[in-house]
Amino acid sequence: MKNPKVLVVGGGLAGCEAALYLARHGVSVVLAEVKRIKANPSQKSKSFAELVCTNSLKSKDPNSSHGILKHEMKGLGSLVLEVGLKTSVPAGDALAVDREAFSAQITQVMEATKGIEVIDVEVSDPMAFAKKHGCHFTIIASGPLTTSPLENWLAENIAKEDFYFYDAIAPVVDADSLDYSKLYFKDRHKPVPEEEGLEADYLNAPMTEEQYYTFIEALVESEKVPAQKFEDYKFFESCLPVDIMAERGKETARFSCMKPIGLELPDGTLPYACVQLRKENLIGSAFNLVGFQTRLKYSEQVRVFKTIPGFEKASFLHLGSVHRNTFLNSAKALNWDFSSKKFPELFFAGQITGVEGYTESASIGLYVASQVLRKIHGHEAYIWPVDTGIGALVNYVMTAKKPSPSNINFGLLPKVELTKDERRDRKNRKKVKKTKASAAARESFDKILPNIIPLHESVSSRV
Ligand SMILES: Cc1cc2nc3c(=O)[nH]c(=O)nc-3n(C[C@H](O)[C@H](O)[C@H](O)COP(=O)(O)OP(=O)(O)OC[C@H]3O[C@@H](n4cnc5c(N)ncnc54)[C@H](O)[C@@H]3O)c2cc1C
Repeated sequence: MKNPKVLVVGGGLAGCEAALYLARHGVSVVLAEVKRIKANPSQKSKSFAELVCTNSLKSKDPNSSHGILKHEMKGLGSLVLEVGLKTSVPAGDALAVDREAFSAQITQVMEATKGIEVIDVEVSDPMAFAKKHGCHFTIIASGPLTTSPLENWLAENIAKEDFYFYDAIAPVVDADSLDYSKLYFKDRHKPVPEEEGLEADYLNAPMTEEQYYTFIEALVESEKVPAQKFEDYKFFESCLPVDIMAERGKETARFSCMKPIGLELPDGTLPYACVQLRKENLIGSAFNLVGFQTRLKYSEQVRVFKTIPGFEKASFLHLGSVHRNTFLNSAKALNWDFSSKKFPELFFAGQITGVEGYTESASIGLYVASQVLRKIHGHEAYIWPVDTGIGALVNYVMTAKKPSPSNINFGLLPKVELTKDERRDRKNRKKVKKTKASAAARESFDKILPNIIPLHESVSSRV
């Protein structure tokens, strides 16, 4: 194909990855993004690839499921990973970033890359928009909060049903407003750093038995934001609002986001429960309440969260909330390269395909861009093996009987065989399984990499 041109709708994590991947391979890209003219309720900045909730891109450990994805992202030249590493803030094994610096740098790359034309616009009919701009292919990466006109177009032309879902945001507290005499720094299962000037990445608010049950009761009794008429609350199990946990049972939070295990107090004893706080930025001026996504009304959040030890005078930089999540029934609507069954020149990437999370969405952005590139060069779609991280995600959404967005996790990868001795070693069995699955995924990806990218075609670095 001569002078190939691709429309990417959405300058989020998937859209930016896809745009740069294609531009680096000599394809002209029109990147259409609405947020600078009409932001959605979770967007706070004008920058692209905004991290709307936590600032964590999850584990860097090569033997974790997110580590597997990072290996593959690196192999595909991921911008999200590159900028994530450049703007990282300390967070133990996790790759957490300074969210403003992260998004600012990605925006700068989008705007400065020869071959990418950024247009501030709300796309409502992607086929008509692509035609108007002379684009041969379109990638829709409009994310969990796709705007209504596009959503309507998709409902009418692609999806028909299975469209609404919900997700939730955790509050962020001003570091200067906390009472540190009641808090302590410690990373779970790690000794407190002994070297002077060093501190753990996590700050913890310990609770006694009485404090914990009073807090849970307050969560249950507090006023929640009611669901809108068109809403039907269905949450990701891995991202449940803390008030829903409290409603599920008195002990639920203590075995989840308020788990004390591995967070011994300085005197060596274990608190009854713990609220964990993670730094929001490098200077540590703000903390995110880990796992505290919530449906509580703003005034109720302030009242209830101020009962956490050390939070008596807390000032919240932003409060938690609940948001919609738009995604397709990919198994019904899409082919395995995430092109539409109905319109072969129309592709989908990111969370809208039914994956969940920043890293997962960015990975799918790269996956789809590589499939579009293959198509441009006249190659068939390349279906990745299920023992790779991205292959496992694609396999999950394409075979799910009932679409239910998922993060990457070892359950999506094929089972690994353990030796008799490894099976008997109960203490290390899980770790060995993960290590083996991760090694197999890396090996599989390294083997298929030359098949993914049509390397024999000219690869021009136009950045
Ligand atoms: C409330 C909430 C909390 C979340 N919490 C977490 C979390 O803690 N950890 C985590 O890993 N993930 C979290 N997620 C999910 C995470 O945000 C997504 O996985 C990720 O951002 C998806 O990437 P994406 O590129 O698919 O979409 P996005 O990053 O959302 O990007 C889509 C872009 O498309 C634009 N757009 C939408 N409609 C149009 C249109 N019609 N025309 C042009 N542009 C359009 C949007 O403005 C946006 O910039 C959360 C999501 C929400 C909504």
